[in-house]
Amino acid sequence: MTTPSVTVLDHWISGTRVPGTSGRTAPVHDPATGRQTAEVPLASAGEIDAAVKTAVSAAKEWRTSSLSKRAAVLFAFRELLNSRSDELAAIVTAEHGKVLSDAAGEIARGLENVEFATGVPQLLKGGFSEQAATGVDVYSIRQPLGVVAGITPFNFPVMVPLWMCANAIACGNAFVLKPSEKDPSASLFLAELWKEAGLPDGVFTVIHGDKEAVDALLDHDDIAAVSFVGSTPIARYIYERGTANGKRVQALGGAKNHALVLPDADIDMAADAIVSAAYGAAGERCMALSVAVAVGGVGDDLVEAISARLPALTVGPGSEPGTDMGPLITREHRDRVAGYVSAGAEAGATVVVDGREQDVPADGFFLGMTLLDDVTPDMTVYRDEIFGPVLSVVRVDTFEEGLALINANQYANGTAIFTRDGGAARRFQNEVEVGMVGINVPIPVPVAYYSFGGWKDSLFGDTHMYGPEGINFFTRGKVVTQRWPDPATSRVDLGFPRTR
Ligand code: NAD
Repeated sequence: MTTPSVTVLDHWISGTRVPGTSGRTAPVHDPATGRQTAEVPLASAGEIDAAVKTAVSAAKEWRTSSLSKRAAVLFAFRELLNSRSDELAAIVTAEHGKVLSDAAGEIARGLENVEFATGVPQLLKGGFSEQAATGVDVYSIRQPLGVVAGITPFNFPVMVPLWMCANAIACGNAFVLKPSEKDPSASLFLAELWKEAGLPDGVFTVIHGDKEAVDALLDHDDIAAVSFVGSTPIARYIYERGTANGKRVQALGGAKNHALVLPDADIDMAADAIVSAAYGAAGERCMALSVAVAVGGVGDDLVEAISARLPALTVGPGSEPGTDMGPLITREHRDRVAGYVSAGAEAGATVVVDGREQDVPADGFFLGMTLLDDVTPDMTVYRDEIFGPVLSVVRVDTFEEGLALINANQYANGTAIFTRDGGAARRFQNEVEVGMVGINVPIPVPVAYYSFGGWKDSLFGDTHMYGPEGINFFTRGKVVTQRWPDPATSRVDLGFPRTR
């Protein structure tokens, strides 16, 4: 039953809040207290259809807007986002649980994508070849697709929508966002900022929901493209169903990111980087490091350096100053992650630090940080994406063995190498079969003027997210070949010297 302190959330359609009518809802929790704080409507196929219809007519107008008008809206949106980022960070922390500084960091990384998209007049420039044949010129233009959808995960409720919508809107499309139902409020805040920035109604829509809403988007004739970020099984499903319906789809999936630590690495630098990349945001990052591959004799020093750092870290509510790690997203997920720790121990991994025994707040969905040593590739703790504060150390004898281990993994989102040897680093970046590589950099999320994406089961589709590939994804190319009659041969006298 809804209590007075539970906020009832709405969809955002045609520039205004619209209550859900399906009769189905989902609870939204504050993971730091475990208390339900909101109720989010879950859209029916009929509600999706009505929302998409408004987006279709908005897209027709928006595609005719000038590039300078679009850039002006993006600049205004950028200013609003920047000036109100504290409020937005608080919303993220209240529903996701990550610490405030991390929420602010996510907004800053999302903002980069808006800044990139302000360059749309430059980004949409085509090519021109004069005199491709005698009297014939050829040029290329890129045009918007129409209405495009974004389906996003819980772990970055601001950054991932901005990865998509900034470029999609800049390119002249209308964008329909189906955010995660676990932390949906940030998307409504973004919608209000877009409106305040001058974006015409209907160009940015938020429609909440679960599988029913997603399926309705995937099947809708007026959705031209789907941009998805989430877990691998759902990414595969979205890609298969969306492309079967003739849509353009990019679907980014899960991850199991490895750090290869060579014997010559700066251990303190590596340990600092690995601790923040493994346990930051409670390990709920697609670029979190979850496996440290220790080469040769470096294992003992590395495990000691990492375990020495953990007692200094505080687990608690993300809104409290001084907290290093917040709770997990749901109770079920917390229990599932704890189950992996038990399974690892039973399978023979050495539990160096046990997050289940750490002193954490009793309310909320907290779990401490776990460090497992002597993990082997057959263990579930190694094979599965855990998406929690659990770091596994796998020991190998050689660089080749470590590289082969990483290349054999089904996931291939990000990876990092820690070494002082430039030749080893260069070989690694050349031979590793992973989409994003860090060299002494633990979370190599590309800046907004490159593109983001993994390989193998971390990405279904051909196009990476945001940056130049994002511009390509949200536009269709057209090439025009033109020939004009020579005015000197025209039947009408235009004042040119006659050649006949
Ligand atoms: P998820 O796959 O459960 O959900 C993602 C989206 O899909 C949500 O909007 C959800 O409502 C929808 N969805 C869920 N089940 C569905 C179904 N059966 N049919 C249709 N739609 C469905 O992912 P999550 O738990 O929200 O996010 C965590 C996952 O996202 C992790 O696996 C993480 O690695 C991944 N992720 C990947 C990247 C990347 O860039 N590769 C970035 C962030 C998160």
